[in-house]
Amino acid sequence: MMKGSLLIPQMLERAEQFFPKKEVVSRTGGGVQRITYKEIGARTRQLADMLTKAGVQEGDKVGTLAWNHHRHLELYFGVPGIGAVVHTINIRLSAEHIIFIINHAEDKLLFVDDDVFPLVEQVFDQLTTVEKVIVMTDEQALPETKIENVFSYEDWIAEGDASTSFRKDLDETAPAGMCFTSATTGNPKGVEYTHRSTVLHSMSLALADSAAVSESDSIMPVVPMFHVNAWGIPYAAVWMGAEQVMPGPRFTPELLAGMIASEKVTVAAGVPTIWLALLKELEQNKQDVSSLRAVLCGGSAAPAGMIRTFEETYGVPFLHAYGMTETSPLATVSRLKSYQQDLSTEEKLDIRARQGILVPGLEMRVVGEHGEAAWNDEEMGELQLRGPWIADQYYKDERSEEAFSDGWLHTGDVCTVDEEGVIKIVDRTKDLIKSGGEWISSVDLENALMAHPAVFEASVVAVPDPEWQERPVACVVLHDGAEADKEAVLDHLRPDFAKWWLPDDVLFFEEIPKTSVGKFLKRALRDQVEAIYNR
Ligand code: ADP
Repeated sequence: MMKGSLLIPQMLERAEQFFPKKEVVSRTGGGVQRITYKEIGARTRQLADMLTKAGVQEGDKVGTLAWNHHRHLELYFGVPGIGAVVHTINIRLSAEHIIFIINHAEDKLLFVDDDVFPLVEQVFDQLTTVEKVIVMTDEQALPETKIENVFSYEDWIAEGDASTSFRKDLDETAPAGMCFTSATTGNPKGVEYTHRSTVLHSMSLALADSAAVSESDSIMPVVPMFHVNAWGIPYAAVWMGAEQVMPGPRFTPELLAGMIASEKVTVAAGVPTIWLALLKELEQNKQDVSSLRAVLCGGSAAPAGMIRTFEETYGVPFLHAYGMTETSPLATVSRLKSYQQDLSTEEKLDIRARQGILVPGLEMRVVGEHGEAAWNDEEMGELQLRGPWIADQYYKDERSEEAFSDGWLHTGDVCTVDEEGVIKIVDRTKDLIKSGGEWISSVDLENALMAHPAVFEASVVAVPDPEWQERPVACVVLHDGAEADKEAVLDHLRPDFAKWWLPDDVLFFEEIPKTSVGKFLKRALRDQVEAIYNR
């Protein structure tokens, strides 16, 4: 057999050749545009030409600070197309972390959305390697600025040659993309994706038993393109020739619902908080979401109650998946096996709310205190992974050693595995609650709490306890207008949990602090809870 190279630009070439008429529906600051893959291809070649002319060389990093739209997509292919590395930067991080990330990666150029540009302006004098800033505005006019070497994307690429060839001679194991993940303490940690890892990961997204990305889909990545490459969806969608619907800057649940209805979106991907907000919106303003064949959800555990509402109220199949920045991210997908179709609704929901089984191509083991945990749905251990789209180190970071020892990625997630390999994430190692020497899973309690009809969101954190070491406290946000007190909430948990699992307290919040990607920010929540108790 030949050893064909697996290169990112080949995925775009396929879309240009076989799906030239298929469209990307892109919402930018200026409105919604429809651009075909033929046009995206030509524009990406112009971009690649201009990158080369700007002196970007193989291995150089090119940073992006941008929302989900077609220009960002062009960077996903144009930068690796000349052998450089597209470094997507999370625009919601603190200025301090953004400065660190850009300097640590040594980004040479920055491509920035116009609404993010003021942030870049603020920190620009602390950036040590950036030579040019290209602002991705719809208007040709550039924002007023004191920074030199600022260009408008459209003007800039207009000077590029649309017949530029992508590099064919690249090493498939060379870096092509880069993303940073937040650390519990210290600076964010960088992960570099290679051409090969990205192509293989895209293939895994297209498998029938995973997300089944196909030409017939209209895919809406709500998960930001600066968060693990929008879970790799834009790459898979281009390769398969699927239509893409990109929601752009500062979208609202109303806007998402509207785009799903008008563009007949078949797959929408995002974290649970997005879907909770969408359900709330649909309750208030009806929209036709029947085109959806899957709501792809990951990033934190999908509460069973939410899965049920999507399926029973809206007839929308739910697809729960698990992964992390270090795993590209797709690692496991939760689907019923063919012989489980006749189980009761509750049994099915229980399986689907778990994280599922490993996608083909990866290997896993679960390591507990006394070696590998048995697959008995009970023994807990840390999930460890390896495979062709799992990172083997952090970018120039001494913390690599602890996370990647003996050839496995130590995920920091604690799980159980049933007899047939279905994993259930019990918690992150650092969020597990240790009460009287036993572990309490905050995730299990949260899922149960969110199944209470009055509860909109719930997060459970540990508070220090002189007797038990730690005890759980539930932090709850109620639905607008709904009522429930501490006892009602605890009564709801009582039938399903041992007494010592029940939270010592239920605190009611207007809002639960979230991370930059919409996950519960437990660190901040713990501080708030502590402040309440110390008042
Ligand atoms: P971070 O949140 O640390 O910035 P990631 O976005 O890469 O980094 O998140 C990865 C983590 O999110 C996983 O390690 C896991 O704890 C959690 N996670 C992802 N998907 C799921 C899921 N389906 N269920 C439970 N937890 C999940």
